[in-house]
Amino acid sequence: MIGKTNYWPAEQLQAGVLEAAAVLAEGGIIAFPTETVYGLGGDAGNTKAVERIFAAKGRPSDNPLIVHIAKQEAVYGLAERVSEIEEILMAAFWPGPLTLVLPVKAGAVSALVTAGLDTIAVRVPAHDVARRLIEQSGCPLAAPSANRSGRPSPTQARHVMEDLEGLIHGVLDGGATGVGLESTVVRVLGNQIHILRPGGITREQLLEVAGAEAVIITPAAGSEEAPKTSGLTQAPRSPGIKYAHYAPKGEMVLVTGHSDEQIAVVQEKIVEAKRRGSMVGVLSCTEHTVYYEADFVFDCGSRNHPELAAHSLYGILRECDERGLDFIIAEGYPEQGIGAALMNRLRKAAGGHEITV
Ligand code: AMP
Ligand code: MG
Repeated sequence: MIGKTNYWPAEQLQAGVLEAAAVLAEGGIIAFPTETVYGLGGDAGNTKAVERIFAAKGRPSDNPLIVHIAKQEAVYGLAERVSEIEEILMAAFWPGPLTLVLPVKAGAVSALVTAGLDTIAVRVPAHDVARRLIEQSGCPLAAPSANRSGRPSPTQARHVMEDLEGLIHGVLDGGATGVGLESTVVRVLGNQIHILRPGGITREQLLEVAGAEAVIITPAAGSEEAPKTSGLTQAPRSPGIKYAHYAPKGEMVLVTGHSDEQIAVVQEKIVEAKRRGSMVGVLSCTEHTVYYEADFVFDCGSRNHPELAAHSLYGILRECDERGLDFIIAEGYPEQGIGAALMNRLRKAAGGHEITV
């Protein structure tokens, strides 16, 4: 328990960043907006600060944290080496929602940040408040998402307060985040770019800049989502993957497939659940909302614009709990572009319950 959590509203960010940076420099922990979701930052070199992050989140200590820096130059103080492909990716996507897992320079950060691994995950966020805060504090910030472990990542300052009020030193309110899903985490080995976690930078974008000789591997071989037959036994793992995430309190099922049959199956599931006496919610694309007679229908945006669903998903999952929904049916989206990351999060939220029509 930390006690009072300072809240800096949008109008006070100028002064708020200075005050928050001073708290960080002293080992405090502060939530701040990024372009993906809100992060909970602490000085990556200060073990006490990093312990506070794990404690506030209730995060298992074997799940390492992403280190956020204000400028690319800072990566050379954290990583033992950076390959040519990694340089290309940084030049193309930083600042932005791409995290690189690199060999860590000994002693660069607290061993808790990397969970004792010999690698470190790093990115430069594309959010002015985040970058000003890092610069002003003078330290790289270890910053996982600013939610209690197992809750959806926060996309508004209000979500951070719901989960962490009294457990952190402050939150800077930068309004709703843009992407709404976390960064893409990659590990480059030779000419292979392994996507350890799909996110804000898409597979298609990586392909476009990586050059013809690079190979994109997704899902990461060695991860629990990867096919067992990939043959790449030495492929990297992302420790966070083994943890359940983002699940609402109600039971959730994902219905994927062609739109006409999808509508029919969702309707059928609504009727069944209502017959059982459940409070039913549907996460629907705009085009389908008129078909559903559930207790609550969330309009997640057009089927042709998965970025809208990505932007609003976590807020909607929180609302499912607030409304006390005990059965939730989500429509699947096409898996191109950001749709891949969106479907990854929907599958986790549904705990693997998926009907493909
Ligand atoms: P979060 O901070 O909650 O967005 O989660 C960070 C993600 O990055 C988790 O899935 C971690 O497992 C992953 N990650 C962080 N550091 C490393 C690392 N050194 N190697 C592999 N994955 C990492
Ligand atoms: Mg998280």
